[in-house]
This record gives sequence, C-alpha cells and structure tokens, in this order.
Amino acid sequence: MATDAFAEARKRMVEEQLKARGIRDQRVLRAMEAVPRHLFVRPEDQEWAYADGPLPIGYGQTISQPYIVARMTELLGLKGDEKVLEIGTGSGYQAAILAHLAREVHTVERIPELVEMARQRLAKLGLTNVHVHHGDGTLGWPEAAPYDAILVTAAAPKVPEPLLEQLAEGGRLVAPVGSRGLQYLERWTREGQTFHRERFEPVAFVPLIGSYGWDLEDLLAE
Ligand code: SAM
Repeated sequence: MATDAFAEARKRMVEEQLKARGIRDQRVLRAMEAVPRHLFVRPEDQEWAYADGPLPIGYGQTISQPYIVARMTELLGLKGDEKVLEIGTGSGYQAAILAHLAREVHTVERIPELVEMARQRLAKLGLTNVHVHHGDGTLGWPEAAPYDAILVTAAAPKVPEPLLEQLAEGGRLVAPVGSRGLQYLERWTREGQTFHRERFEPVAFVPLIGSYGWDLEDLLAE
C-alpha cells in the first residue's frame, strides 16, 4: 500500500465515502486505496483530491467523484483477467483504477492535451497495461476489440451502437445514459445478439461528444 503524504486521506475516503455507502467489492476498495488520486488533479487542487466530489481538470472537463468511480467499477464485476475499454480518459484516474483490476485497459479521449497528460501520469506510476488512445470514443476502439468490459465516463443520449458491437460474449458495459442534465447508470450485458439492460441511480456527467453521442455544434449553440 502506498505511504505518501495522502495515504491517510485516501484511507478515510475509502471508509467514509465508499464502504459507508455500500461499495463491497474488496478488490475495488483496495484499488481505490492504492491509486494516488492527488496526482490526477491540478496541483492547486491537490488538497481537495480526496474530497467527496468531482474536480475540474481543465478544458471544461472533470475527474469524477470517488464514489461514482468506485460504483461504476464495481458494476463491471472485474475479476482480473479482462480486457477493458474506457471511453473518456479525462485525467486518467479511472483508467489507473481499472489497470489494478484487469489484465489490459484501452482508454479513448477526444481532447489531445488530456491524452498526453494521462499518458504521462500513468507511465510515471508504472501502469504499463493501460493504452491511452486519441479519438472519438463513441466509435469504440475496434483495433483491440472485443472487450470483456466497457466503461463510458461521459453522458450519452443512448448507448453507442459500436460499443455494443465491440462487447465480448458475456461482457458488461456500464454508462450514464439520459439527457444533458440528468442520466441514469445503466449496465448492459451481452448474451449472443441479445443485450440485457439494468438501470441504477441517477448521475450527472459532462457530455459524450461524437458521432454516436452529442453533437458539438449543438452544444456550443446552447
Ligand atoms: N474518466 C475520467 C477520469 O478518471 O478523470 C473522467 C472523465 S470526464 C467526466 C469525461 C471525459 O470524456 C472528458 O475528458 C471528455 O473530454 C471525454 N469525452 C467526451 N466525449 C468523448 C468521446 N466521444 N470520445 C472520447 N472521450 C470523450
């Protein structure tokens, strides 16, 4: 377990924000206690890195609230041998959590500056099983498909079709789906050509922008 200056704050975050709210997957709890979240926020925000909320990461984007990261990760039900796709790399924090819990992680981000920063952070932590790609994640990342688990960390008007196509048999996809202001966490599980959908709690994410997401021009005109 890491023993940096923030180790105590991280322990408290796990106890008070995650365990207390019902996160039970021990592997998820251990990963949340191990990954130094303060290295994924702007230097001026480090003192808030373990607070109970999202934080700005520049370019109008956010690093999600720790509880939401843990909750969505838990919904994927990772055991350790999976190939995972994340859409919306942002700071790279969620990808680092996934890297602790799966065999191989591919993560796609549309903003080049965030891609570069996430690559540097993940490399510094020695997380060599994460591959950060630049592109429109609503198209997935066909080069490494199929995926045992897919996590979308931006709000989608509906689950992008290419992501469902890139899901392996028995695979799970978790995404916030709904309107611009309010979405519900959904989990889609693949059984052949059939997809079972479950709905969980309401959330509020920044928009998923792309061919199978929200249109950038429409958002700018709002
Ligand atoms: N998972 C991130 C983390 O741990 O910091 C937080 C993700 S942030 C809430 C949403 C991210 O999705 C933003 O960085 C945004 O640029 C990105 N995004 C939005 N639309 C995208 C798309 N079509 N493809 C890839 N990334 C996208």
